[in-house]
Amino acid sequence: MVTVKSVERSAMECETEHFLMAQRQLDEIAGEMGLDLELHERLRYPKRSLIVTIPVRMDDGTVETFTGYRVHHDITLGPAKGGIRFHPDVNLGEVSGLAMLMTWKCALMGLPYGGAKGGVRCDTQRLSLGELERLTRRYTSEIINMIGPDKDIPAPDMYTNEQTMAWIMDTYSINVGHTVPSVVTGKPVSIGGSLGRNEATGRGVSYCARRAVSHFRIESTPPTVVIQGFGNVGSVTAKLLHEKGYKIIVISDVYGGLYNQNGLDIPRLLAYVSEMGRVADFAGGKAIANAELLTLPCDVLIPAALGNVIHSGNVDQLRTKIVVEAANGPTSPEADLKLFERGVFVVPDILANAGGVTVSYFEWVQGLMHLFWTEQEVNDRLEEIMGRACDQVFEMSSKTGLRTRMAALRIGISRLAEAKKLRGLYP
Ligand code: NAD
Repeated sequence: MVTVKSVERSAMECETEHFLMAQRQLDEIAGEMGLDLELHERLRYPKRSLIVTIPVRMDDGTVETFTGYRVHHDITLGPAKGGIRFHPDVNLGEVSGLAMLMTWKCALMGLPYGGAKGGVRCDTQRLSLGELERLTRRYTSEIINMIGPDKDIPAPDMYTNEQTMAWIMDTYSINVGHTVPSVVTGKPVSIGGSLGRNEATGRGVSYCARRAVSHFRIESTPPTVVIQGFGNVGSVTAKLLHEKGYKIIVISDVYGGLYNQNGLDIPRLLAYVSEMGRVADFAGGKAIANAELLTLPCDVLIPAALGNVIHSGNVDQLRTKIVVEAANGPTSPEADLKLFERGVFVVPDILANAGGVTVSYFEWVQGLMHLFWTEQEVNDRLEEIMGRACDQVFEMSSKTGLRTRMAALRIGISRLAEAKKLRGLYP
């Protein structure tokens, strides 16, 4: 029996509910798979974390101070990789938990990356474009020693986009004195972004949903779908599933949802939202609250907005056959267990939304090699990698009886554990 002698870790600042949720997932699967205790202990906390203060000159001449974070959970398999989110709720615990999920996700998808995440506590709705640019550039300067094409490659996440990545890439390049496109992914195509990157996460989600529907042998034609969140991921998922003949009966955003049992007209809704900025008041459906839409009967429920929206308080009311986790961490551990007991098939976040990081990897590779693939090549390669990962997770789950989330973690963590054993103590 191995005994782990580790210095008692005092309560760390990252130990928020969000972080502890990610840690509990690790603890559960580590016990299940008999993970080496020393390795387990090393994986329970981030390798390094940085908290920065970001003073920004606002348009009215005053200076406002924001807080930003960048966390590397692990760098064993390659440079750290993970998004940057701008949201009022961002904190060290959330970012640390998400960085841990990125480690498992990259390992599961077979990508040569470790896991990272970053963010700034801010409400983008009340910032002008100029204020957002100054905030992003100053945040980049503050974390500049942590990032780089061989160290850590940021990407977009909630309330950040390709413009944000362009500012980060430009600020980094100014500092090192030459243009470095591969320091970020998810940047505009005109400055080295990959074709297909913008749609990649939603494409991967829609692919997983179709794979789960066929694995689960859903009989209804067409399958009905409820999607919470109509940003980058939710809107692309809706568009692609609609193109495949799925009936999207609910779409929502932060302002509320729209419901139409006969299926929403997604192309018209997309055009409406790009003009009006919200789904509410679109003529093709009736209003429904975000909390209510989760409990509607449907074949596939796709949370594509925030974390922890399926929890012990509402899980018993869910009436879906499949949950495809487009958002990061949308299901609490208790709810995950209940869904499993009730036979609801869950495609876990580290698999379902891995399309983004997979095409990020393609973008990084194309940038480093100074070559460009066609959109078709990108989509074909994405489909191949997503398909392989779905098969591995679904098969591991059937073979072992593990929940799909645990099966996905087991595959990712086994790969990482092997690499860590071979390398030693540094990473
Ligand atoms: P986004 O900012 O483009 O869109 C977020 C959407 O969620 C918007 O429609 C917003 O109105 C909605 N929303 C916000 N708060 C809400 C609430 N309380 N109730 C209902 N809807 C709400 O973000 P995104 O890039 O689409 O990311 C969505 C989720 O997917 C996040 O959890 C993110 O971490 C995850 N994700 C994104 C990517 C990516 O490539 N963009 C990759 C992996 C995971």
